Amino acid sequence: MALTDPSKRLEAMPPYMFAELERRIADKKAQGIDVISLGIGDPDMPTYPHIVEAMQKAVADPGTHQYPSNRGRDEFREAFARFYRRRFGVEIDPESEVIPAIGAKECIYNLCFAFLDPGDVALAADPGYPVYTGGPILAGAEPVVLPLVPEFGFVPDLDAIDPEALRKARLLFLNYPNNPTGAVVPDGFFERVVELAREHEILVVHDNAYSETTYDGYVAPSFLATPGAKEVGVEVFSLSKGFNMTGWRCAAILGNADAIKTYWRLKTNVDSGLFEAVQLAAVAALDAPRDSIDEMNAIYQRRRDLVVSALRDIGVEVEPPKGTIYVWAPVPEGYTSTSFVEKVLEEAAVVISPGSMYGPSGEGFFRISLTTPDERITEAVERMREHVKPAA
Ligand SMILES: *Cc1c(COP(=O)(O)O)cnc(C)c1O
Repeated sequence: MALTDPSKRLEAMPPYMFAELERRIADKKAQGIDVISLGIGDPDMPTYPHIVEAMQKAVADPGTHQYPSNRGRDEFREAFARFYRRRFGVEIDPESEVIPAIGAKECIYNLCFAFLDPGDVALAADPGYPVYTGGPILAGAEPVVLPLVPEFGFVPDLDAIDPEALRKARLLFLNYPNNPTGAVVPDGFFERVVELAREHEILVVHDNAYSETTYDGYVAPSFLATPGAKEVGVEVFSLSKGFNMTGWRCAAILGNADAIKTYWRLKTNVDSGLFEAVQLAAVAALDAPRDSIDEMNAIYQRRRDLVVSALRDIGVEVEPPKGTIYVWAPVPEGYTSTSFVEKVLEEAAVVISPGSMYGPSGEGFFRISLTTPDERITEAVERMREHVKPAA
Protein backbone atom coordinates (compact mmCIF):
# COMPACT_ATOMS: atom_id res chain seq x y z
CA MET A 1 0.00 0.00 0.00
CA ALA A 2 1.42 3.39 -1.03
CA LEU A 3 1.72 6.38 1.24
CA THR A 4 -1.12 8.32 -0.35
CA ASP A 5 -3.50 5.48 -1.25
CA PRO A 6 -7.08 6.29 -0.25
CA SER A 7 -9.01 4.12 2.18
CA LYS A 8 -10.99 1.17 0.81
CA ARG A 9 -14.19 3.04 1.65
CA LEU A 10 -13.17 6.05 -0.41
CA GLU A 11 -11.95 3.74 -3.17
CA ALA A 12 -15.43 2.15 -3.19
CA MET A 13 -17.07 5.43 -4.22
CA PRO A 14 -18.23 5.39 -7.85
CA PRO A 15 -15.75 7.06 -10.23
CA TYR A 16 -16.50 10.60 -11.33
CA MET A 17 -17.97 10.15 -14.81
CA PHE A 18 -18.02 13.68 -16.08
CA ALA A 19 -14.36 14.61 -16.25
CA GLU A 20 -14.59 14.49 -20.08
CA LEU A 21 -17.57 16.87 -20.12
CA GLU A 22 -15.74 19.27 -17.80
CA ARG A 23 -12.68 19.14 -20.05
CA ARG A 24 -14.84 20.15 -23.03
CA ILE A 25 -16.36 23.05 -21.10
CA ALA A 26 -12.89 24.24 -20.07
CA ASP A 27 -11.71 23.94 -23.73
CA LYS A 28 -14.58 26.09 -24.96
CA LYS A 29 -13.90 28.74 -22.35
CA ALA A 30 -10.19 28.70 -23.22
CA GLN A 31 -11.17 29.38 -26.86
CA GLY A 32 -12.93 32.52 -25.65
CA ILE A 33 -16.44 31.08 -26.19
CA ASP A 34 -19.08 32.53 -23.87
CA VAL A 35 -20.38 29.39 -22.15
CA ILE A 36 -23.59 29.74 -20.10
CA SER A 37 -23.95 27.23 -17.28
CA LEU A 38 -27.40 25.99 -16.32
CA GLY A 39 -25.77 23.11 -14.46
CA ILE A 40 -25.40 23.82 -10.78
CA GLY A 41 -28.32 24.49 -8.43
CA ASP A 42 -27.08 27.39 -6.33
CA PRO A 43 -29.30 30.49 -5.96
CA ASP A 44 -27.78 33.44 -7.84
CA MET A 45 -29.56 36.13 -5.80
CA PRO A 46 -28.17 37.35 -2.47
CA THR A 47 -29.42 36.21 0.93
CA TYR A 48 -32.44 38.33 1.96
CA PRO A 49 -31.35 41.65 3.59
CA HIS A 50 -33.13 41.07 6.94
CA ILE A 51 -31.12 37.86 7.38
CA VAL A 52 -27.82 39.58 6.52
CA GLU A 53 -28.63 42.38 9.00
CA ALA A 54 -29.43 39.86 11.75
CA MET A 55 -26.11 38.15 11.02
CA GLN A 56 -24.19 41.45 11.18
CA LYS A 57 -25.68 42.16 14.58
CA ALA A 58 -25.13 38.63 15.86
CA VAL A 59 -21.53 38.44 14.71
CA ALA A 60 -20.73 41.69 16.55
CA ASP A 61 -21.92 40.13 19.79
CA PRO A 62 -19.09 38.32 21.65
CA GLY A 63 -21.77 36.03 23.08
CA THR A 64 -21.74 34.15 19.73
CA HIS A 65 -17.96 33.71 19.45
CA GLN A 66 -17.26 30.58 21.43
CA TYR A 67 -17.80 26.92 20.63
CA PRO A 68 -21.49 26.35 19.99
CA SER A 69 -23.15 23.32 21.53
CA ASN A 70 -24.46 20.69 19.15
CA ARG A 71 -27.79 21.03 20.89
CA GLY A 72 -28.13 24.55 19.52
CA ARG A 73 -29.32 27.80 21.07
CA ASP A 74 -32.78 28.00 22.65
CA GLU A 75 -33.69 30.78 20.19
CA PHE A 76 -32.86 28.52 17.21
CA ARG A 77 -34.83 25.53 18.45
CA GLU A 78 -37.80 27.70 19.46
CA ALA A 79 -37.82 29.53 16.11
CA PHE A 80 -37.98 26.17 14.31
CA ALA A 81 -40.86 25.07 16.55
CA ARG A 82 -42.75 28.29 15.70
CA PHE A 83 -41.99 27.92 11.98
CA TYR A 84 -43.09 24.27 11.83
CA ARG A 85 -46.36 25.08 13.63
CA ARG A 86 -47.15 28.12 11.48
CA ARG A 87 -45.96 26.77 8.14
CA PHE A 88 -46.72 23.03 8.34
CA GLY A 89 -49.14 22.63 11.27
CA VAL A 90 -46.55 20.38 12.95
CA GLU A 91 -45.85 20.52 16.71
CA ILE A 92 -42.14 20.29 17.50
CA ASP A 93 -40.84 20.09 21.06
CA PRO A 94 -37.93 22.57 21.07
CA GLU A 95 -36.30 20.63 23.93
CA SER A 96 -36.02 17.25 22.21
CA GLU A 97 -37.26 17.31 18.63
CA VAL A 98 -34.92 19.74 16.83
CA ILE A 99 -31.18 20.48 16.71
CA PRO A 100 -29.02 22.41 14.22
CA ALA A 101 -27.06 20.83 11.36
CA ILE A 102 -24.19 22.36 9.40
CA GLY A 103 -26.20 22.03 6.19
CA ALA A 104 -28.36 19.13 5.04
CA LYS A 105 -25.37 17.46 3.39
CA GLU A 106 -23.51 17.16 6.70
CA CYS A 107 -26.65 15.91 8.38
CA ILE A 108 -27.37 13.17 5.82
CA TYR A 109 -23.74 12.04 5.74
CA ASN A 110 -23.52 11.85 9.53
CA LEU A 111 -26.89 10.06 9.81
CA CYS A 112 -25.24 7.28 7.78
CA PHE A 113 -22.46 7.02 10.35
CA ALA A 114 -24.93 7.23 13.23
CA PHE A 115 -27.17 4.40 11.97
CA LEU A 116 -25.36 2.17 9.48
CA ASP A 117 -22.93 -0.70 9.99
CA PRO A 118 -21.34 -2.95 7.38
CA GLY A 119 -24.08 -5.31 6.15
CA ASP A 120 -26.79 -2.67 6.60
CA VAL A 121 -28.69 -1.17 3.70
CA ALA A 122 -29.82 2.40 3.03
CA LEU A 123 -32.65 2.79 0.53
CA ALA A 124 -32.13 5.77 -1.73
CA ALA A 125 -34.14 7.32 -4.53
CA ASP A 126 -32.57 7.03 -8.00
CA PRO A 127 -32.03 9.58 -9.49
CA GLY A 128 -31.22 11.38 -6.27
CA TYR A 129 -28.97 13.70 -4.35
CA PRO A 130 -25.54 12.01 -4.38
CA VAL A 131 -25.03 11.83 -0.57
CA TYR A 132 -27.91 9.32 -0.26
CA THR A 133 -25.68 6.74 -1.92
CA GLY A 134 -22.21 8.15 -1.17
CA GLY A 135 -22.89 8.46 2.59
CA PRO A 136 -23.78 4.78 3.03
CA ILE A 137 -20.75 3.67 0.96
CA LEU A 138 -18.38 5.78 3.05
CA ALA A 139 -20.00 4.39 6.20
CA GLY A 140 -19.18 0.87 4.94
CA ALA A 141 -22.83 0.00 4.29
CA GLU A 142 -24.73 -0.65 1.07
CA PRO A 143 -26.99 1.78 -0.79
CA VAL A 144 -29.88 0.13 -2.64
CA VAL A 145 -31.50 2.41 -5.18
CA LEU A 146 -35.23 2.78 -5.77
CA PRO A 147 -35.98 3.93 -9.33
CA LEU A 148 -38.03 7.08 -9.83
CA VAL A 149 -39.81 6.99 -13.18
CA PRO A 150 -42.34 9.37 -14.78
CA GLU A 151 -45.01 6.63 -15.13
CA PHE A 152 -44.99 6.37 -11.32
CA GLY A 153 -44.94 10.12 -10.63
CA PHE A 154 -41.25 9.99 -9.67
CA VAL A 155 -41.92 8.21 -6.38
CA PRO A 156 -40.46 4.78 -5.64
CA ASP A 157 -42.69 1.76 -6.12
CA LEU A 158 -42.73 0.64 -2.49
CA ASP A 159 -44.20 -2.77 -3.41
CA ALA A 160 -41.28 -3.48 -5.74
CA ILE A 161 -38.46 -3.16 -3.17
CA ASP A 162 -36.35 -6.29 -2.94
CA PRO A 163 -37.40 -8.16 0.28
CA GLU A 164 -33.77 -8.87 1.18
CA ALA A 165 -32.95 -5.16 0.91
CA LEU A 166 -36.00 -4.34 3.05
CA ARG A 167 -34.83 -6.79 5.70
CA LYS A 168 -31.38 -5.22 5.87
CA ALA A 169 -32.55 -1.61 5.48
CA ARG A 170 -32.08 0.79 8.36
CA LEU A 171 -32.53 4.11 6.53
CA LEU A 172 -34.80 5.34 3.73
CA PHE A 173 -33.94 8.64 2.06
CA LEU A 174 -36.72 10.63 0.41
CA ASN A 175 -36.93 14.20 -0.89
CA TYR A 176 -40.07 16.10 -2.06
CA PRO A 177 -40.23 18.53 -3.80
CA ASN A 178 -37.61 16.42 -5.51
CA ASN A 179 -34.13 17.14 -6.82
CA PRO A 180 -33.50 16.40 -9.68
CA THR A 181 -36.97 15.51 -11.05
CA GLY A 182 -38.90 18.54 -9.74
CA ALA A 183 -41.71 16.16 -8.70
CA VAL A 184 -43.94 16.90 -5.72
CA VAL A 185 -45.28 14.22 -3.41
CA PRO A 186 -48.50 12.52 -4.58
CA ASP A 187 -51.42 12.34 -2.11
CA GLY A 188 -51.16 9.35 0.19
CA PHE A 189 -47.51 8.54 -0.52
CA PHE A 190 -46.08 9.70 2.81
CA GLU A 191 -48.79 7.69 4.60
CA ARG A 192 -47.63 4.55 2.78
CA VAL A 193 -44.02 5.35 3.68
CA VAL A 194 -44.94 5.51 7.38
CA GLU A 195 -46.62 2.08 7.11
CA LEU A 196 -43.60 0.57 5.37
CA ALA A 197 -41.21 2.07 7.92
CA ARG A 198 -43.28 0.70 10.82
CA GLU A 199 -43.51 -2.76 9.32
CA HIS A 200 -39.80 -3.07 8.53
CA GLU A 201 -38.33 -0.84 11.27
CA ILE A 202 -36.66 1.58 8.93
CA LEU A 203 -35.84 5.16 9.90
CA VAL A 204 -37.20 7.54 7.26
CA VAL A 205 -35.05 10.57 6.48
CA HIS A 206 -37.02 13.17 4.55
CA ASP A 207 -34.71 15.75 2.99
CA ASN A 208 -36.83 18.88 2.89
CA ALA A 209 -34.63 21.19 0.85
CA TYR A 210 -37.34 22.70 -1.38
CA SER A 211 -40.62 23.05 0.56
CA GLU A 212 -40.45 26.84 0.30
CA THR A 213 -39.61 26.90 -3.41
CA THR A 214 -42.88 26.12 -5.18
CA TYR A 215 -45.01 27.49 -8.03
CA ASP A 216 -48.53 27.91 -9.36
CA GLY A 217 -49.93 28.14 -5.83
CA TYR A 218 -48.66 24.70 -4.78
CA VAL A 219 -47.82 24.52 -1.04
CA ALA A 220 -45.47 21.65 -0.10
CA PRO A 221 -46.11 19.67 3.09
CA SER A 222 -43.64 18.52 5.72
CA PHE A 223 -43.22 14.73 5.98
CA LEU A 224 -43.71 15.24 9.73
CA ALA A 225 -47.31 16.34 9.12
CA THR A 226 -48.11 12.72 8.19
CA PRO A 227 -49.79 10.84 11.06
CA GLY A 228 -47.20 8.60 12.76
CA ALA A 229 -44.25 10.20 10.93
CA LYS A 230 -42.47 11.26 14.12
CA GLU A 231 -42.47 7.65 15.34
CA VAL A 232 -40.51 6.49 12.32
CA GLY A 233 -38.72 9.47 10.90
CA VAL A 234 -36.84 12.71 10.86
CA GLU A 235 -36.89 15.62 8.47
CA VAL A 236 -33.84 17.61 7.48
CA PHE A 237 -34.83 21.22 6.78
CA SER A 238 -32.18 23.25 4.94
CA LEU A 239 -32.25 27.02 4.64
CA SER A 240 -29.90 26.85 1.64
CA LYS A 241 -32.30 27.02 -1.29
CA GLY A 242 -35.45 28.71 0.04
CA PHE A 243 -33.58 31.52 1.79
CA ASN A 244 -30.65 31.91 -0.66
CA MET A 245 -28.25 30.71 2.06
CA THR A 246 -26.20 27.95 0.42
CA GLY A 247 -22.92 29.47 1.62
CA TRP A 248 -24.05 29.77 5.23
CA ARG A 249 -24.27 26.01 5.94
CA CYS A 250 -27.49 26.15 7.94
CA ALA A 251 -30.08 23.43 8.48
CA ALA A 252 -31.88 21.56 11.24
CA ILE A 253 -32.98 18.01 11.89
CA LEU A 254 -36.48 17.64 13.32
CA GLY A 255 -38.77 14.82 14.36
CA ASN A 256 -38.07 11.58 16.23
CA ALA A 257 -36.39 12.53 19.52
CA ASP A 258 -34.41 9.28 19.91
CA ALA A 259 -33.06 9.46 16.37
CA ILE A 260 -32.03 13.08 16.94
CA LYS A 261 -30.25 12.08 20.14
CA THR A 262 -28.30 9.41 18.26
CA TYR A 263 -27.34 11.90 15.55
CA TRP A 264 -26.29 14.37 18.29
CA ARG A 265 -24.16 11.65 19.91
CA LEU A 266 -22.34 11.00 16.63
CA LYS A 267 -21.84 14.72 16.05
CA THR A 268 -20.27 15.33 19.45
CA ASN A 269 -17.45 13.12 18.13
CA VAL A 270 -17.17 14.82 14.75
CA ASP A 271 -17.80 18.56 14.78
CA SER A 272 -18.41 21.38 17.21
CA GLY A 273 -21.75 22.71 16.10
CA LEU A 274 -23.19 25.51 14.01
CA PHE A 275 -21.74 29.03 14.51
CA GLU A 276 -24.15 30.73 16.91
CA ALA A 277 -24.34 33.90 14.82
CA VAL A 278 -25.62 31.74 11.94
CA GLN A 279 -28.15 30.21 14.32
CA LEU A 280 -29.43 33.70 15.19
CA ALA A 281 -29.57 34.65 11.51
CA ALA A 282 -31.69 31.52 10.97
CA VAL A 283 -34.10 32.79 13.64
CA ALA A 284 -34.53 36.03 11.65
CA ALA A 285 -35.04 33.99 8.45
CA LEU A 286 -37.68 31.70 9.95
CA ASP A 287 -39.62 34.42 11.79
CA ALA A 288 -39.80 36.87 8.87
CA PRO A 289 -42.89 37.31 6.66
CA ARG A 290 -42.83 35.32 3.40
CA ASP A 291 -42.51 38.31 1.03
CA SER A 292 -38.88 37.70 0.05
CA ILE A 293 -39.54 34.01 -0.60
CA ASP A 294 -42.62 34.79 -2.69
CA GLU A 295 -40.68 37.33 -4.76
CA MET A 296 -37.90 34.81 -5.33
CA ASN A 297 -40.40 32.14 -6.37
CA ALA A 298 -41.97 34.55 -8.87
CA ILE A 299 -38.51 35.00 -10.43
CA TYR A 300 -37.91 31.23 -10.64
CA GLN A 301 -41.41 30.65 -12.01
CA ARG A 302 -40.77 33.13 -14.83
CA ARG A 303 -37.44 31.46 -15.62
CA ARG A 304 -39.08 28.05 -15.48
CA ASP A 305 -41.65 29.15 -18.05
CA LEU A 306 -38.94 30.50 -20.36
CA VAL A 307 -37.06 27.20 -20.19
CA VAL A 308 -40.14 25.00 -20.62
CA SER A 309 -41.31 26.99 -23.64
CA ALA A 310 -37.89 26.84 -25.32
CA LEU A 311 -37.62 23.10 -24.69
CA ARG A 312 -41.04 22.48 -26.23
CA ASP A 313 -39.96 24.50 -29.26
CA ILE A 314 -37.00 22.20 -29.81
CA GLY A 315 -39.15 19.10 -29.51
CA VAL A 316 -38.58 18.16 -25.87
CA GLU A 317 -41.68 16.96 -24.01
CA VAL A 318 -41.69 18.56 -20.60
CA GLU A 319 -44.12 19.36 -17.81
CA PRO A 320 -43.44 22.55 -15.82
CA PRO A 321 -42.42 21.48 -12.27
CA LYS A 322 -44.47 22.70 -9.28
CA GLY A 323 -41.40 23.00 -7.10
CA THR A 324 -37.57 23.07 -6.83
CA ILE A 325 -35.12 25.09 -8.92
CA TYR A 326 -34.87 22.47 -11.70
CA VAL A 327 -36.50 21.45 -14.94
CA TRP A 328 -36.11 17.70 -15.58
CA ALA A 329 -36.81 16.50 -19.08
CA PRO A 330 -36.29 13.48 -21.35
CA VAL A 331 -33.61 13.80 -24.03
CA PRO A 332 -34.89 13.78 -27.63
CA GLU A 333 -35.09 10.48 -29.54
CA GLY A 334 -31.72 9.09 -30.53
CA TYR A 335 -29.67 10.64 -27.73
CA THR A 336 -28.28 9.48 -24.42
CA SER A 337 -28.06 11.88 -21.47
CA THR A 338 -24.40 12.52 -22.20
CA SER A 339 -24.67 12.79 -25.98
CA PHE A 340 -27.51 15.34 -25.70
CA VAL A 341 -25.63 17.38 -23.09
CA GLU A 342 -22.60 17.37 -25.42
CA LYS A 343 -24.74 18.44 -28.38
CA VAL A 344 -26.19 21.38 -26.43
CA LEU A 345 -22.69 22.39 -25.33
CA GLU A 346 -21.28 22.11 -28.87
CA GLU A 347 -24.14 23.82 -30.67
CA ALA A 348 -25.35 26.39 -28.15
CA ALA A 349 -22.44 26.73 -25.69
CA VAL A 350 -24.91 26.03 -22.89
CA VAL A 351 -24.12 23.63 -20.04
CA ILE A 352 -26.92 21.38 -18.77
CA SER A 353 -26.58 18.36 -16.47
CA PRO A 354 -26.83 14.79 -17.74
CA GLY A 355 -29.52 12.92 -15.81
CA SER A 356 -27.22 9.92 -15.49
CA MET A 357 -25.17 11.99 -13.04
CA TYR A 358 -27.90 11.45 -10.43
CA GLY A 359 -28.13 7.66 -10.73
CA PRO A 360 -28.82 4.93 -13.31
CA SER A 361 -32.54 5.80 -13.63
CA GLY A 362 -31.55 9.34 -14.61
CA GLU A 363 -30.25 8.01 -17.93
CA GLY A 364 -32.33 9.42 -20.79
CA PHE A 365 -32.99 12.70 -18.96
CA PHE A 366 -31.27 16.02 -18.43
CA ARG A 367 -31.59 18.72 -15.77
CA ILE A 368 -31.63 22.49 -16.18
CA SER A 369 -31.13 24.67 -13.12
CA LEU A 370 -33.03 27.96 -12.82
CA THR A 371 -30.38 29.69 -10.71
CA THR A 372 -28.83 31.77 -13.50
CA PRO A 373 -29.58 35.52 -13.79
CA ASP A 374 -32.57 36.42 -16.01
CA GLU A 375 -30.62 37.89 -18.93
CA ARG A 376 -28.26 34.88 -19.08
CA ILE A 377 -31.04 32.32 -18.89
CA THR A 378 -32.90 34.24 -21.63
CA GLU A 379 -29.77 34.20 -23.80
CA ALA A 380 -29.29 30.48 -23.11
CA VAL A 381 -32.81 29.53 -24.18
CA GLU A 382 -32.54 31.73 -27.30
CA ARG A 383 -29.37 29.91 -28.26
CA MET A 384 -31.01 26.54 -27.69
CA ARG A 385 -33.98 27.57 -29.85
CA GLU A 386 -31.69 28.75 -32.60
CA HIS A 387 -29.03 26.05 -32.63
CA VAL A 388 -30.48 22.85 -31.20
CA LYS A 389 -32.71 21.68 -34.01
CA PRO A 390 -35.68 19.46 -33.28
CA ALA A 391 -35.58 16.02 -34.83
CA ALA A 392 -37.25 16.06 -38.27
C1 LIG B 1 -29.13 21.49 -2.40
C2 LIG B 1 -29.62 20.26 -1.72
C3 LIG B 1 -29.19 19.97 -0.42
C4 LIG B 1 -28.09 20.78 0.21
O1 LIG B 1 -28.40 21.28 1.41
P1 LIG B 1 -27.30 22.01 2.27
O2 LIG B 1 -28.10 22.40 3.46
O3 LIG B 1 -26.79 23.18 1.47
O4 LIG B 1 -26.21 21.05 2.59
C5 LIG B 1 -29.71 18.84 0.21
N1 LIG B 1 -30.59 18.04 -0.42
C6 LIG B 1 -31.01 18.30 -1.66
C7 LIG B 1 -31.98 17.39 -2.30
C8 LIG B 1 -30.52 19.41 -2.35
O5 LIG B 1 -30.90 19.62 -3.60
